[in-house]
Amino acid sequence: MKAIRIHQFGGPEVLRLEDVPTPKPGPGEVLVQVKAAGVNPFETYIRAGTYPVKPQLPFTLGTDAGGIVAEAGPDAAGIDQGTRVYTGGTITGSYAEFTLCKSAQIHPLPPNVSFSQGAAVNVPCATAYRALFYRAKAQPGETVLIHGASGGVGTAAVQLARAHGLTVIGTAGTDKGRELIRREGAHHILDHHSPEYLDKLRELTGGRGVDVIIEMLANVNLGKDLTAVARSGRIVIVGSRGTVQINPRDAMSRDAAVLGMTLWNTPETELAGIHAALVAGLENGTLKPVVGRELPLAEAARAHQLLMEPGAHGKIVLIP
Ligand code: NAP
Repeated sequence: MKAIRIHQFGGPEVLRLEDVPTPKPGPGEVLVQVKAAGVNPFETYIRAGTYPVKPQLPFTLGTDAGGIVAEAGPDAAGIDQGTRVYTGGTITGSYAEFTLCKSAQIHPLPPNVSFSQGAAVNVPCATAYRALFYRAKAQPGETVLIHGASGGVGTAAVQLARAHGLTVIGTAGTDKGRELIRREGAHHILDHHSPEYLDKLRELTGGRGVDVIIEMLANVNLGKDLTAVARSGRIVIVGSRGTVQINPRDAMSRDAAVLGMTLWNTPETELAGIHAALVAGLENGTLKPVVGRELPLAEAARAHQLLMEPGAHGKIVLIP
């Protein structure tokens, strides 16, 4: 089968299309034929060798895919060949024509959801869901700022928060991104590059501030977030690419909480609950992953370049 292999850490050019043997599922494992593979920012950090976890070289990247069950292992009972699935992690990497998964890592992909959308479920939607409902404990009737709403995690967070009865304020850096988050259900839209957007945010909340902030770029925004959050507000740090200076007094005076969040820390039972909720959202149409770009598998390097450029528009997926 074709797969994108990494033999050394480095720039996007280290992503190489190669022929490798198709894996064979063992006990408790399932082989998935990948129809689309999701590309996530943390995979660019792994590729570069800057992520805390460094896989043994050579390896294939990727945790997210939409596809069909090609073969189930000896004791993976009840999993039929041909079943439409999305993956919540893989054993052998999803930037490939086939990927081996543990049976607990596959979830049903409803017929109304495309394979490319299936590739956009796991990391983005599970992160958005956990940040909103497990970390921030966001409640219907509250106000949430999705700070960076135009990308994979942000668009999912807008949809999930809207369906849960929150007032949703989303930010994006381009007109196209702002149009996208309006379409996906944000009640109010702001430009995170505008010098006035924090003033507008204050106006939108009648001077109170927002109850919850889901933060995609904490190294730029955390100090500002602490001035924009309401009393007893919660800020969840989903993304950060550096350090930041804050005034702790801003948190003190508001009884505000700053909560870290990494999807890999999710306990197994919580993860099962998150995927159950995501499947329900896919089935009832409240969760509709946004695919902004489909590229051939061979163009994985270009996908990594595009992902790091400004002007996010949903998810980038690779088609084997
Ligand atoms: P993405 O699709 O590349 O989207 C990036 C988002 O950040 C876009 O909405 C972008 O908006 C926005 N952004 C850019 N500049 C910003 C600024 N100054 N203020 C606020 N937002 C800004 O990435 P993603 O998949 O959504 O992931 C978002 C971040 O979360 C990444 O850093 C990723 O590594 C991290 N992440 C963490 C976890 C976890 O477990 N903690 C899981 C998934 C992702 P424009 O392009 O419109 O400017």
